Amino acid sequence: MAIDRSNPIPIIPSATEIPFLLLPETENLFFDRAARLKSLATGHAMADYLGFVAEIALAQQQALNSLHPSLPEGTGGPVPLDHTRLHRDPVWQQVLRQIIAAVTPKAPPDYARWMNGLLEKATPGDLEQWAQGMLEGDPQHCDIGMMPMVAAALQVYWTALTRHLEANSIRHHPDGHAAQQCPVCNAPPVGSLVRSGATTQGLRYLACSLCNAQWHMERIHCVNCGESAKVFYYGIEGGDDTVQAESCDACHTYSKVMHMEKNPAADVIADDLATLPLDVLVGEAGFERYGPNPFLMTETGHAARD
Ligand SMILES: [Zn+2]
Ligand SMILES: [Zn+2]
Repeated sequence: MAIDRSNPIPIIPSATEIPFLLLPETENLFFDRAARLKSLATGHAMADYLGFVAEIALAQQQALNSLHPSLPEGTGGPVPLDHTRLHRDPVWQQVLRQIIAAVTPKAPPDYARWMNGLLEKATPGDLEQWAQGMLEGDPQHCDIGMMPMVAAALQVYWTALTRHLEANSIRHHPDGHAAQQCPVCNAPPVGSLVRSGATTQGLRYLACSLCNAQWHMERIHCVNCGESAKVFYYGIEGGDDTVQAESCDACHTYSKVMHMEKNPAADVIADDLATLPLDVLVGEAGFERYGPNPFLMTETGHAARD
């Protein structure tokens, strides 16, 4: 058989090819997050809050272990679990009630009373509005105090749905550059992880704020605009550099990078919450955060979604 030299040689994927998408490890994801939060809480100025978010994470793992939803209408296509298209199953409302019931004994009493009072009065339609408010980053439709609970429940639902997916069938996000939205569910990333471990050592992955999937993005590129020449890093003085803020002079945003090679237990939600002074520092330097942490109960945290 003749070889046609005019055609390029087909590229055969090798074992060392970079995996584009990492689906969440549903058996222990929230459990590991809770452990990281508890370890970061020790001696921390925000110890009580980190400890409380750890309780939320434990309740999330418990809910996830017994949740096996089928794929609802609006799934499939290039962004298979797109939150703007998917008809979410009201089962997520049960998850919300389950999480609130589990964390109530651990919550500050006033907050627990307020939260349960609001939940008792809410209709299923109200809960759907809260979910919409949370997904769209609109505090008018979801009280800031309720947002972490709603976010926790929606994370469990979307993470459970990822069990239906095959990582290698998902490619780059079809709209814009890959970093801005999750290729699985279309939510923005919390931040990114430079990973340790055999197949992904030293590679950077964006971590989804909703479904917990992670997707590859080259290092030293702005998450918001993709620029690489004007990217600079901020760290906490005297810190171990596990967490850095990657700032961009082109679009004046920043996003946090967690280095698992410095600490293999680093978690994008936990390490982000534990390094709020870094947000203050970078904010004062004139940068606006890209990507929300749904457990950050501040106007700034929500404004960052826009
Ligand atoms: Zn996602
Ligand atoms: Zn930028």
